[in-house]
Amino acid sequence: MSITLRAICADITTLAVDAIVNAANSTLLGGGGVDGAIHRAAGPELLATCRTLNGCATGEAKITPGFRLPAKHVIHTVGPVWRGGEHGEPALLAACYRNALELAAQTGLETIAFPCISTGVYGYPPALAVPCALGAVKEALARLQGIREVIFCCFSEEERMRYEHALNMKHKD
Ligand code: ADP
Repeated sequence: MSITLRAICADITTLAVDAIVNAANSTLLGGGGVDGAIHRAAGPELLATCRTLNGCATGEAKITPGFRLPAKHVIHTVGPVWRGGEHGEPALLAACYRNALELAAQTGLETIAFPCISTGVYGYPPALAVPCALGAVKEALARLQGIREVIFCCFSEEERMRYEHALNMKHKD
């Protein structure tokens, strides 16, 4: 089965996929950026459910329903805060993508959209985050069953171009 990987520029809260991924903080109790947007769009039931999850460690992932979102589920993951790159950031960022996809596959989901985890308030340089994300996704998809489509949902055209470029580079080799 062929799997589609694509980059789009959109508000992730508008996507009618099986799961959108939330770049949450470790409390899972909401925050700014994409996390705030997801909680606003999903409604208060999301926060009520997140309160029962006991937070989430960096690199780990937890799943909830999507409530009022067009997406059926939200997979919450906590990206690393960028501290210069020598504090395990690449392995932790890769773990976010890997654990989110493993949870999606275990739940029987087929379509999933990721934001650019850690590249906002958490300060991960996009030029390093994009190849890390792509590498982790490809590695996970090579061994997981059932996922048909992975969308990299960018919030700027510049970000989307970065993914587009990286995806095309991979196609050529
Ligand atoms: P982090 O704390 O992991 O850095 P942020 O939410 O600050 O998380 O940023 C992660 C990425 O999500 C950034 O690239 C930001 O531009 C993007 N973003 C913010 N809001 C949305 C949204 N509604 N849809 C998709 N991406 C978003």
